[in-house]
Amino acid sequence: MKTDIQIAQEAELKPIKEVAQQIGIEEDELEFYGKHKAKLSEELWDKIKENPDGKLILVTAINPTPAGEGKTTTTVGLGQAMAKLGKKALIALREPSLGPCFGIKGGAAGGGYAQVVPMEDLNLHFTGDFHAITSANNLLAAMLDNHIQQGNALKIDPRQVVWKRCLDMNDRVLRNIVVGLGNKMDGMVREDHFVITVASEIMAILCLAEDLQDLKERLGRIIVAYTFDGVPVTADDLQATGAMTALLKDAIKPNLIQTLEHTPALVHGGPFANIAHGCNSVRATRMAMKLSDITITEAGFGADLGAEKFMDIKCRMAGLHPDAVVLVATVRALKYNGGVKKENLAEENLEALEKGISNLEKHIENIQKYGVPVIVTLNSFITDTEAENAYIRKFCEQRGCQFALSEVWEKGGEGGIALAEKVLDTLENKESDFHTLYPDDMSLEKKIETIAKEIYGANEVIYEPAAKRQLDKITAMGFGNFPVCMAKNQYSLSDDAKKLGRPENFAIHIREVYVSAGAGFVVALTGAIMTMPGLPKVPAANGIDVSEDGKITGLF
Ligand code: ADP
Ligand code: MG
Repeated sequence: MKTDIQIAQEAELKPIKEVAQQIGIEEDELEFYGKHKAKLSEELWDKIKENPDGKLILVTAINPTPAGEGKTTTTVGLGQAMAKLGKKALIALREPSLGPCFGIKGGAAGGGYAQVVPMEDLNLHFTGDFHAITSANNLLAAMLDNHIQQGNALKIDPRQVVWKRCLDMNDRVLRNIVVGLGNKMDGMVREDHFVITVASEIMAILCLAEDLQDLKERLGRIIVAYTFDGVPVTADDLQATGAMTALLKDAIKPNLIQTLEHTPALVHGGPFANIAHGCNSVRATRMAMKLSDITITEAGFGADLGAEKFMDIKCRMAGLHPDAVVLVATVRALKYNGGVKKENLAEENLEALEKGISNLEKHIENIQKYGVPVIVTLNSFITDTEAENAYIRKFCEQRGCQFALSEVWEKGGEGGIALAEKVLDTLENKESDFHTLYPDDMSLEKKIETIAKEIYGANEVIYEPAAKRQLDKITAMGFGNFPVCMAKNQYSLSDDAKKLGRPENFAIHIREVYVSAGAGFVVALTGAIMTMPGLPKVPAANGIDVSEDGKITGLF
């Protein structure tokens, strides 16, 4: 069997200008990054902004296994299938981070015959958006430390600096560091921290900004530190906003590439869903909806994280109204949720499936709470058995859900026709009555409790004393009307990664709370979640190489 990268490298790519033509984009409305990648220009936006909006479909999933279970693959395959059915569809994905790429999970370009290409470019430096975000983040950090060094006119308390440096890498030794060691000219000594770029507030801002002006205003509002008197200090106070915007001027433009079947794909922005809000950019989603009849977008990890934040943060802020949700399940992930170890997932095990399917049940119920119709799709693996498939189909149909088997990994768009037909049927016959889970004017504490109880199934929320104080302070500062961005492990509905299936009678532990004033949400860290991941004992990077003729191997 061919690996993802073999399939991707064998593909004959079309010039990106030809792919763009399919959705009515002309050559001079593109900004080219080589032959196969382009950014969509401001002029294009001006041309299309009054177009009517197409339909919006979210692809999400049950709680995943450590390998990821095929949301991107399904999104890409569904886009390819829509094209086969003659529909004008556009997929809108996130850009991959180098962290998972060199860690456990590998890249994020889809898989099998449902991939976006050029796969190596996308997984590595792509059009430089993440580098721009990292630079803007670290410029702000450098200007902050320099301000303290040069006399500290703003009276920043070095013990209350909340802005962290960032790097798009899993590098655990940077979680807690000391900067400014040396002599007087080497800066003020203080404890500092790194987050991974996909958890940076700038990533969230880039993804939530409506346009360059909104981006700039949001950047200006970022709180970097507090003064000795406890007054917040912002990026505007440091006069850093203009320079950061300059670094991000091109990064805010969505990137266009193609699927293996030459259909168009927008890939833009990439916050993680466990430690950030987990959705591609509003800018790309909006452009996709103006350019096509059906936009298919993906939110990260399980529906408890990605879909919740898609609805309660992205759709709330951008005023988007999703028309349907495709919920991806795999026999493997359900068996994993039923207690089967990763190495035994290929064996038929109906008993474990019956146990693990409670996880799917909870996610179906959760999405129904938002009033959006659900289509369950089983991302088919060649190790799945007839009996396992039949069991899941029956389970879904008994719950009034549309169900389709998806074979896009093996067959490309052809393998996604059954799913595409169910989606089209839903769009035609079921009305979406979308509403967020909680209103803006609910207290932050009540919002956290609502997500914990309604979505995770917890029976209580326990706060660390410091978290409680932070919550009161944030509310007093006037940010009580913000939505909450929960940071939680992706494997479990609870904050304990080992509690699989549909856990009951558990508490959610809130360790830390902080406000991202520019992004416009309050982050609540639960359990042991980290904003800078580490590498595993044997990182994926060990298997990546470049041959003499410059061909990359080992990316997946
Ligand atoms: P997610 O978006 O949910 O994280 P991806 O679509 O990126 O998951 O897929 C994760 C990995 O699983 C990829 O390497 C992909 O090739 C593989 N994969 C996905 N679907 C299948 C399938 N049906 N059979 C075999 N491998 C698959
Ligand atoms: Mg994905």
